[in-house]
Amino acid sequence: MTSLERYDLPVSAIPKRWYNVLPDLPRGLDDYLHPVTREPVDQEFMERLLPKALVAQETSTDRWITIPEEVRAAYRLWRPTPLFRATALERHLDTPAEIYFKYEGSSPSGSHKLNSALAQAYYARLEGVDRLVTDTGAGQWGSALSLACSLFGIKALVYMVRASFQGKPYRRHLMETFGQQVLPSPGPHTDFGSALLAAAPDHPGSEATAVSEALETVRRNPGDRFSMGAFANHVLLHQTVIGLETREQLEEIGKQPDFLVASVGCGSNLGGFAFPFVGDKLAGAQIGILAAEPAACPTLTAGEYRYDFADASGLGPLTRTYTLGHEFVPPPIHAGGLRYHGAAPLVGLARHEDLLDARAYTQKEVFEAGTLFARLHGLLPAPETAHAVRATIELAEDCRRQRRRAVIVFCYSGHGLLDLGAYGSYNAGEMAEPEPYECTLAAGDPALAHLAGR
Ligand SMILES: *Cc1c(COP(=O)(O)O)cnc(C)c1O
Repeated sequence: MTSLERYDLPVSAIPKRWYNVLPDLPRGLDDYLHPVTREPVDQEFMERLLPKALVAQETSTDRWITIPEEVRAAYRLWRPTPLFRATALERHLDTPAEIYFKYEGSSPSGSHKLNSALAQAYYARLEGVDRLVTDTGAGQWGSALSLACSLFGIKALVYMVRASFQGKPYRRHLMETFGQQVLPSPGPHTDFGSALLAAAPDHPGSEATAVSEALETVRRNPGDRFSMGAFANHVLLHQTVIGLETREQLEEIGKQPDFLVASVGCGSNLGGFAFPFVGDKLAGAQIGILAAEPAACPTLTAGEYRYDFADASGLGPLTRTYTLGHEFVPPPIHAGGLRYHGAAPLVGLARHEDLLDARAYTQKEVFEAGTLFARLHGLLPAPETAHAVRATIELAEDCRRQRRRAVIVFCYSGHGLLDLGAYGSYNAGEMAEPEPYECTLAAGDPALAHLAGR
């Protein structure tokens, strides 16, 4: 008996255009607001922060945006990615549902993040940007951007949360091997980092400290631009290669999805995977879109839809989306890529318009699902991806109870081969279960307050 089926597309099927969901949504996005004046941000503010082409994509209402030939050529490193049918999991669950997954784990950096990193590095190079500066938690985004910048011949500087820099060094080694600079945050290279270290020499760092240092660096160096791994509209746009390929693969085998499932940190893999189906959904197709989140940081499940700072430091623009509050510091979980207080505005809007649903899972539920999947299919999902596996299993079990032959497709956002420490502690029965999210917001890091003007 086969444990899975595989559906490939020829290299010529790599999408030629990205799909922009904005013109198809029932309403537009609210303006980004300036962090100090609270007025809508102008183009000059944005272009000091990001390469011009990305600023244009950020607000574009064109439904299709051509993928530059150089970016398409770089996608050939691993795209088109396969669609698999997880027949062994179907049998194991004894479900009448069909389970498919789109495999983004074959990317050279290990996750879907390279889809956007390549586009960002390409435009930065084209516009003569000296260096892209970014922040990374566990290092998935930092490794994708480092690789992309090396391929396009530009510099990257990555501020990595100090606790991961020291405790989970493999992705740092990867970034350095790609020839890029990685600094621990907080560190002595910025005013912000020095002040924090002076007050607390053992400061473990956080997303907030890393973003603050990256923004300070960009502000100081006119040739630098900031780079975002998720959240922004242009990132979700680049990620739509995932869903566009998936659509084509499903069409070839004559299947219509009933459920699309993805893990959500900010929502870039969910948006990229599911948005190309939103047109069908608005035209009446019954497609359920499900976001899988950690119980410790359930942005779409428990957050509020309101204006908040996009970044934890309160330095960047304000946007309206689902948020747990930018001062909320999620507890440490192994799915570092899901520790984010806010959803991408496009995903927030889709949720607000009832175009998608969300469920939250505890760490142990997630690793149980990831381990089962590895045993059945030989593919070890990243802890983030294992959230989507968990949600898929739950849906397939619902289908068993209802005797429903639904087609479930999930986004396999990345592999877990650099997350073996987490699987190790799960296997040893030593995995701590962080407190599930409670609606009392943690006090922000007081060291950040003066910078945010509060
Ligand atoms: C970063 C990451 C995620 C979460 O980020 P999104 O922006 O929500 O997609 C999920 N899976 C993997 C493997 C990641 O690296």
